Amino acid sequence: MKRERLYFSGTRRRAASYVGVKIESEERLEGQPTIISRFAMIASDGQGQRYELNRPDSFWRTFGEVDLADRRQGLSFVRRYGCPLGVLGTTSADYDLSLWLPAQLPLRAAAQVWLPVDAAGISHCDMTRNELAAHALVRDTPKEVWDETRLVPSDADSIEPQPRAVTLRAFMVLSALYDLRNANMMRTCSQCGFWFTVRRAGALYCSQSCNVTGIKVFKVRAWKGTASHGDDSQTQDQGRNDDLSSEVVRARPGGEAPAAHEKLRKRKGRKSVRRASDNRGRAQRRRRPAQT
Ligand SMILES: [Zn+2]
Repeated sequence: MKRERLYFSGTRRRAASYVGVKIESEERLEGQPTIISRFAMIASDGQGQRYELNRPDSFWRTFGEVDLADRRQGLSFVRRYGCPLGVLGTTSADYDLSLWLPAQLPLRAAAQVWLPVDAAGISHCDMTRNELAAHALVRDTPKEVWDETRLVPSDADSIEPQPRAVTLRAFMVLSALYDLRNANMMRTCSQCGFWFTVRRAGALYCSQSCNVTGIKVFKVRAWKGTASHGDDSQTQDQGRNDDLSSEVVRARPGGEAPAAHEKLRKRKGRKSVRRASDNRGRAQRRRRPAQT
């Protein structure tokens, strides 16, 4: 199958912070209850880390699930992928998450087409509804999001231009469209909890970095005698290294870092000690012939 291309250069905002909540109240008609909405406000000092994506991915579904009133979920997303609109940390020092709604609502609707995860952890696309949902996504996504896309020469075949998303929200909408059109399977990453497109049977991790972190955690568990046995399906090649798994684990949507990650950090401390003793071991081995 030909590999689908979708390019995006983003800036993750690892130092983004929660600054408060914005409350909007709206009185529609006299005698009707007032509608009150809450939106988390987040800020970024402009520091960021660049990353590149070169194919569609399903983390748009995680974006769709973000509770915009929650003090952690939106923040976690921004720390991992940056501002969906590309303005936080550049033209805006802070904003409230109501700005995410116009792009989020159509994506949230699109996600309804995927069935609950099966016993293997896979969420399948309902192929009786994907086409209709794709049309709805195109119709309901604001026009300015479509304007945030370009065609550029592909790195695989330069005379066949491929789409580039100028903003993260455009990347997510285009990715959702690919997922609907191809009825892609999804699952949540065993390490960071973000949704990703399942391209290989048995894939457990969203990215190379989550794969590496996940294997370390697995080894630590095995080392401590708590691993389940017989699972050797840990090696993945998701073709993407966004080097962020540890960051996301610390601030995953709706939760604290899992205990396994604590173990990993402790393990990292031990690793340097172990490496030092390994070096001594090698040095001694090299000297030994000279002594005899
Ligand atoms: Zn992950």
